[in-house]
Amino acid sequence: MALNDPLQSENFSLRQQLETLLHEARQNEDKMRRFDQLERKLIAASSLLELVRLLLSEYKLAFGIDHVTLALVDKDYEATRILECAHGIDSDFSGLTLLQSSVPLEILYGNARRPCLGVYEAQQHQTLFNDAHASISSVALLPLTRQGELIGSLNFGSTNPDRYITGWGTDFLERLAEVVAICLESALAQERLKLIGLTDVLTGVQNRRYFEHRCHVEISQARRYKHPLACMFLDIDKFKRINDSYGHQSGDEVLKSVALAIQSQLRSGDTIARYGGEEFVVLLPQAELHHAQQIAERIRCSIAEKSLQALGGQTIKLTISIGLSMLPVEDLVGEDKQLAERLVASADKALYEAKHRGRNQVVCACSQPSGQAKLTPWGRIHGLFSS
Ligand code: GH3
Ligand code: MG
Ligand code: MG
Repeated sequence: MALNDPLQSENFSLRQQLETLLHEARQNEDKMRRFDQLERKLIAASSLLELVRLLLSEYKLAFGIDHVTLALVDKDYEATRILECAHGIDSDFSGLTLLQSSVPLEILYGNARRPCLGVYEAQQHQTLFNDAHASISSVALLPLTRQGELIGSLNFGSTNPDRYITGWGTDFLERLAEVVAICLESALAQERLKLIGLTDVLTGVQNRRYFEHRCHVEISQARRYKHPLACMFLDIDKFKRINDSYGHQSGDEVLKSVALAIQSQLRSGDTIARYGGEEFVVLLPQAELHHAQQIAERIRCSIAEKSLQALGGQTIKLTISIGLSMLPVEDLVGEDKQLAERLVASADKALYEAKHRGRNQVVCACSQPSGQAKLTPWGRIHGLFSS
């Protein structure tokens, strides 16, 4: 009966509209609350690694987005190095693309630099979504800018063609892009500060603090991927004499040259650090014993063949002694801390032995699975525990 009455019918329709509006308001409120929570987490992120993880995984979960990816402009490979140092770029970062130039993003966003919403266009958007593109129908692309520069792009992809529609309001997304850009800039600045604290001022290689952190990271990576890890302790022979004969400043130049000479024999994933004084330490992930021995011997030869010039013009000749130790895959049991201590102590002991045996040589503390030591005749390389 009631619906025939025009007044009651209008009332019913208004109630329905009100219900819909209330529902939308509640949904928006809920969305704002989730956004607020995530924003707080982004601001609190203590490292670039944590920030990237939050962006790639938590947004996806909190807002039910099918694909979230991040492209970062990384001209000087700074972010690459920071992320590699933190944990190695692995499968957790499949949504992250590091770009060597901002040009692709400048072409995408043009001068407007506003969020782009609309249909997924393979030709334009494929590179932003890596392998996920096959199922994407609509996208929201957020330019990340700081001081007028494009520093990256945060990208949302949906399998629903109606999720992101051209012409929709973008206030909310613009705010998100601003927050993310500020957080990225601040995370990079913090990482730079951390790096300064982990670098040796004289030689420019990492310092002992960094090495100790890196050693734990490499041991857990070695355990995870079941690959061996080699460690070298390197100490310049009779360095005090160089200081005494040519002066402390020439000694400093020698330290820089030795650091460079060691570095030039290493791969990008290896670590070199100044352990203190005229002592360096090197970590070689995924290096089998024979490979580590070859590298150690190459370093020793390259330094012995070098002729450096003292500040007074005199020629300086020098040699280096190297202690080598290994963590073979079968020995990667126990706590990381203890394994690290064992690796370092063995290399140090082998170095001591190299000094004892006359310097300018490589001694290897390479134990066999039985616990018996092994003699490794390799040029001037010797096994530590050989008779
Ligand atoms: P060995 O072959 O047994 O290693 O002899 P060594 O003379 O190299 O070893 P020792 O430990 O007696 O001397 C190390 C010297 O390194 C003493 C120290 O003055 C010098 N040294 C340490 N740090 C620096 C530095 O930053 N610059 C300079 N120029 N010398 C340094
Ligand atoms: Mg020395
Ligand atoms: Mg020394």
